[in-house]
Amino acid sequence: MEYIPVSLPEMMEHREKRSKRTAELLSEYKSTVICMSMNFIGEYKVLKHSRLIFNIFCHKVLEAANIVFFEKKHSHCGDYAHFVSNGSPEYVKSKMRQIEESTEVGRLFDIDVFYEIENGMPIQVRRDEPRKCLLCDKSAVECARNRTHGIEAVREETTNIMRRYIASLISECAYNALISEVETTPKPGLVDKNNNGAHTDMNIRSFYASSLAIKPYYYEMAMQTFKGIDESMSTKALMQSLQVIGHTAEKAMFEATKGVNTQIGEIYTIGLLSCGAILALEKLTGFDTISQYAQQLALSIKTDNSPSFGARYEAENAFPNIMNAYKRIEALCNEFSFNEACVIALIETMLTVDDTNILRRGGDDGLNFMRQRAKQILDLKSISEILKATYEFDMQMIESNLSPGGCADILAASIFMLYIKQMLFAYEPENQI
Ligand SMILES: [Zn+2]
Repeated sequence: MEYIPVSLPEMMEHREKRSKRTAELLSEYKSTVICMSMNFIGEYKVLKHSRLIFNIFCHKVLEAANIVFFEKKHSHCGDYAHFVSNGSPEYVKSKMRQIEESTEVGRLFDIDVFYEIENGMPIQVRRDEPRKCLLCDKSAVECARNRTHGIEAVREETTNIMRRYIASLISECAYNALISEVETTPKPGLVDKNNNGAHTDMNIRSFYASSLAIKPYYYEMAMQTFKGIDESMSTKALMQSLQVIGHTAEKAMFEATKGVNTQIGEIYTIGLLSCGAILALEKLTGFDTISQYAQQLALSIKTDNSPSFGARYEAENAFPNIMNAYKRIEALCNEFSFNEACVIALIETMLTVDDTNILRRGGDDGLNFMRQRAKQILDLKSISEILKATYEFDMQMIESNLSPGGCADILAASIFMLYIKQMLFAYEPENQI
């Protein structure tokens, strides 16, 4: 899609159309009407990523305020959406204020709440105080009137606000995926809600602490990727700068766990996929290209001795097991609860992956034992049988001191893929702009 400049007459016509629709809905529903739009200074009213963020905010409004009617319009003059709510104007206004104020990017939105028509004009609930300028402490109206800041400066800050929001969503998805992975129960040999698996030096609280400690570094990596794009960095240079952030994340993890390695694999794998997601969003190439961008990053620093399994193998081969597991979880969710879907996907992964942790602790015998049990479990007919057998399998793995940490990493990364698909790639590429 092209970014098309908007002329003043076009803009006036656009506003009039929006206002007319608001009036129509007020007279039709005789209820509270919300009109949401994004407010950009300058001749471009749709910017990169603005449409994606607009769509995400439509969801926020839909979930917030007893909505009985919703429609959205994508236009180069500015996207806008109308909602009709059963709630009182004051209630709806307070909810909309929460949405606007809950994140920095809310500042780019105008969410107006209307309650009646007077002389053909929709009347809205007043704002408490005027909006602040993006660049200074004065009111936005004042700075716009006086042209205090150049359009370029405002546009740059607008872009940065949107980028920070996207990076924060990615780190949120990463954190949630790490938590979902450790909370998936039962997991054979691994730390879960039931027990510490075949581990004596960590428990579920170690994972909570470590997930929280590394969360900010996913944000850093995402922001670094935006910077890499701006500065036309080579893939290798970008990857090297990401490694620096990765090492800091490892340090933070060890500090949080008092020296125990809980999630080094996930710093690497989910970090790469986070950056792949930013590249896919920037280049509008869609969800399916994330793994390829992440693979290119991994390959850019490839050494001669390529492993035949493990996290680097996975990355250098475009994450075959992770992509497979994410698709499985997505499909299994149609039939089972999220936890059950994750348990099954994990057992399936254990059947096929050469888990480095298992090989280290149990050698080929360990791997064969794990595969044999995984196969038996997957042959069972009902989910209650599967869960019961998996619980017994967990006890056997603990007894044999076996923990499939590599499979757990694959599970976490595949949950991450599912989360970012739902959060950031649920729209057609032209709506991701
Ligand atoms: Zn200002």
